[in-house]
Amino acid sequence: MLIETHAHLDYPDFAPDFDDVLRRATEAGVTRIITIGTSVASSRRAVELAEKHANIFAVIGVHPTSDDDGVDDVMTPLRELAQSSRVVAIGETGLDYHTLPSMAVAKEKHVQIFGRALQSETEEEVEAGIHDGAYKSRQASLFEQQLDLAVELGLNVVIHQRDAWEDTLEIIAPYEGKLRGVFHCFGGSMENAGEVIARGHLVSFTGIVTFKNGAEVREVAANVPINKFMVETDCPYLAPVPFRGKRCEPAHTRLVAESIAAARGVDLEEIARVTTATAEAFFKFNR
Ligand SMILES: [Zn+2]
Repeated sequence: MLIETHAHLDYPDFAPDFDDVLRRATEAGVTRIITIGTSVASSRRAVELAEKHANIFAVIGVHPTSDDDGVDDVMTPLRELAQSSRVVAIGETGLDYHTLPSMAVAKEKHVQIFGRALQSETEEEVEAGIHDGAYKSRQASLFEQQLDLAVELGLNVVIHQRDAWEDTLEIIAPYEGKLRGVFHCFGGSMENAGEVIARGHLVSFTGIVTFKNGAEVREVAANVPINKFMVETDCPYLAPVPFRGKRCEPAHTRLVAESIAAARGVDLEEIARVTTATAEAFFKFNR
């Protein structure tokens, strides 16, 4: 019995064979699937799926790079969706600085964005800096609103963090003690993992633990305390070996768990039992 803690079942990738996807998950021993919203619309679809299928639960939130353009108040629609007892956490929310506006300020885009070629490197840097600042503060505002809502509802949060480690920890710090987060698709060092675990949070691992070049993450998965992590696929992305490059699906949670079991030198049953207990304590399955 495994819990797939991070799937995007509302994505169109699953439309053609949705029932088969669920059947294969059940056959692989994946008894519960948590589908994660990435925008208000995606969260609404997640709740609909969870209300329709007994083994699907929803996490609702707005991803930091969501293009819900112009939506500045995400609390109101999310609060409304959270009325459903099938909502088990808030997310995915967090910070993602992987592609900042300044990186898009390449020669030709320059002209599009600013309507003219910039005079000098210095001026370019100044303008890009202002742009990046606005981008980052919008993400911070969306993140804080969702943390506030999670506290209000007594829910934990699923955190997406990419290239924004320091800022993410700074924003979540005042909420510690009131909620817990899971740093999903964890790709940091053992030291990073220790830092968030010490603050009461969890980490979770995807199919990256099965990759040839995933040795570092595998090493972290082998060494974090057994009751401080969960398993996920982040499907349709990150299909584990031997499906790498193909569409990923919740059944592959088993491959993630098997890989971690092998890295730790324990049985799959033990990983399944402990990660399930961890997920049951973290997500509010019985609201
Ligand atoms: Zn995700």
